Amino acid sequence: MATLGVMGGGQLGRMFVHAAQRLGYFTAVLEPDAQSPAGLVSHHHIQTAYSDPAGLAQLAELCQAITTEFENVPAQALHTLAQTRPVAPNAAVVGIAQNRIEEKAHFAACADVSGVTCAPYAVIETSAQLQAVQADRTDLLPGILKTARLGYDGKGQVRVKTTEELAAAWAELGNVACVLEKMLPLTAECSVLVARGWDGQVVSFAPQRNVHVAGILAVTHAYEGAMPPALAGRAREAAVAIAQHLGYVGVLCVEFFVVEDGSEHGGLVVNEMAPRPHNSGHYTIDACDASQFDLQVHAMAGLPLPQPRQHSPAIMLNLLGDVWFDANGQPQEPDWQAVLRLPGTHLHLYGKTQARAGRKMGHLTITGPDVATVKTMARRVADLLGLPGLDVI
Ligand code: ATP
Ligand code: MG
Ligand code: MG
Repeated sequence: MATLGVMGGGQLGRMFVHAAQRLGYFTAVLEPDAQSPAGLVSHHHIQTAYSDPAGLAQLAELCQAITTEFENVPAQALHTLAQTRPVAPNAAVVGIAQNRIEEKAHFAACADVSGVTCAPYAVIETSAQLQAVQADRTDLLPGILKTARLGYDGKGQVRVKTTEELAAAWAELGNVACVLEKMLPLTAECSVLVARGWDGQVVSFAPQRNVHVAGILAVTHAYEGAMPPALAGRAREAAVAIAQHLGYVGVLCVEFFVVEDGSEHGGLVVNEMAPRPHNSGHYTIDACDASQFDLQVHAMAGLPLPQPRQHSPAIMLNLLGDVWFDANGQPQEPDWQAVLRLPGTHLHLYGKTQARAGRKMGHLTITGPDVATVKTMARRVADLLGLPGLDVI
């Protein structure tokens, strides 16, 4: 049987491996960490640095096609692999998603077809640009200064209200390339998962509504009515247009803001994209007849892409390492017995042995026969484990 490869050994890689194995594929994971979630469950674990030539050669040798599970894999490594094997998504689009400056330029370039723009912003790469922004772009304050590269889960971001705070924030972030984004009055956030094949076939999931706490995804609401239908339709069309404009192959997640004042942006603003399956799409494993990982396998293996159908309303609750500690900061295993006694709870743990505050250890998807039941059960689970985010917008 053929082997599919993945760059990176995190939980997204692990769930990709599970989906690939279900279809009978062998898998190979390239990941330096000996105890990674994906490396532990894969047939082959190539334990080298992501850019190691010997490791890349071995991965290419083993695999029919190769994908990536995190966006900070060196784009050059994907380029090297692509010399001999199909790589999806390719180095060029991963490179765009790795850099907020290029990403925003792409969103602007396809705004005519996608119908959405991003938040007003300015690029700050040099002291001269900082000064120019301080002088001419006070309309961007209050704002968020974000590093162009390597930020995730709200890391590499500082909220600023004044030009002085902006200068201090840029220094705090190490004077690296950044974007200053205007702080928008959000009424909601949502994301859309799109899968596109080598032949251009596109399928997508309905937008799911996301709640972040302290910059990290806490809750995903995935059911009819989670988003106003008109906005949901526009977000879905925009995400498909963005993927098509990139000539994207694989699974792409596009994040959107919904803003209070609909007049300027028509209510919908594109935030960022991830060139891979996404935490906000984990509910698809338990609530849909094809998950985001199934689609990733299909897309890269050149299999037809089924239009996924959601069969149950769902709420996904992220399990961060915080839950593994009691009120006194002492380690404790969460009470899975109590959680799993509740109907419709699906527990996913990623095989990480070290719990740390803020670390993604697993997630719970709650499904049920109707939205009201799912909400009630999710509330109970959240109360049992002390999970945040169900009472936020
Ligand atoms: P991810 O882990 O999703 O990759 P990230 O670190 O790349 O996150 P962003 O998505 O840019 O960060 O921002 C994180 C969260 O901060 C957003 O989901 C939103 O809640 C808030 N946020 C970011 N930019 C803005 C903005 N311009 N206006 C209002 N809120 C914002
Ligand atoms: Mg991001
Ligand atoms: Mg984000």
